[in-house]
Amino acid sequence: MTSYAIISDVHANLEALNAVLQKVDEEKVDSLLFLGDSVGYGPDPNECIELLKAKSTIVLAGNHDWGAIGLTDITCFNPFARIAIEWTSETLSDENKAFLYTLPLTESIKADSMYLVHSSPKEPEKWHYLSYEYEASLYFPCFDENICFVGHSHIPFIVESSPTGKIHSHDNYGKIKKRGRYIVNAGSVGQPRDGIPHAAYALLRDNTVEIKRVSYDIVVTQKKMRKAGLPDFLIERLALGR
Ligand code: ZN
Repeated sequence: MTSYAIISDVHANLEALNAVLQKVDEEKVDSLLFLGDSVGYGPDPNECIELLKAKSTIVLAGNHDWGAIGLTDITCFNPFARIAIEWTSETLSDENKAFLYTLPLTESIKADSMYLVHSSPKEPEKWHYLSYEYEASLYFPCFDENICFVGHSHIPFIVESSPTGKIHSHDNYGKIKKRGRYIVNAGSVGQPRDGIPHAAYALLRDNTVEIKRVSYDIVVTQKKMRKAGLPDFLIERLALGR
């Protein structure tokens, strides 16, 4: 089986992305997959898009990527997210905006029976949140592959459905069984919200899936955000992981 690092929700946080990319390099994985939300909230949207484009085998679109190029209505974003997305839109180069337009909402890797989507395997363009075990359990009929990777909620989890349909949640590590099916939330690189400020990503190899955490220099990102005039609420939440 090919080994994969699955990352999501970078949100223009270059320090967090660089820290994760370094770890992924050390882990010597075969392929990097990105589940969307390259931009929004953070101070380095152009740099993050360019890095993700260079390093990832697959780059998906998230709601903030679509918001920054006018493909998703941002009036339903919370006020802080809206301010950040308007700033992002003004800051993005034309070339990077054009790149965001090309991104798909979903991808399937048939060889390893994997399905990738930013929000949820049901109606990906409606950006449903798939935050908890119970919610995840409802989405197994919405994809054909054995493992579905999602992001969007910024809260990592691993949920398994047994052949009899029994739902079981793993902490940060799960064995991939032949007849099991899985939904894995890779968490967020650039703005974790599970109470742990360290960047999160998922590692799939040797029939195991693991949620990994990587510390990064949060203060540097916060300083850049302040300089860019991004909202205090967004600056402070990085240190809290909320
Ligand atoms: Zn996000």
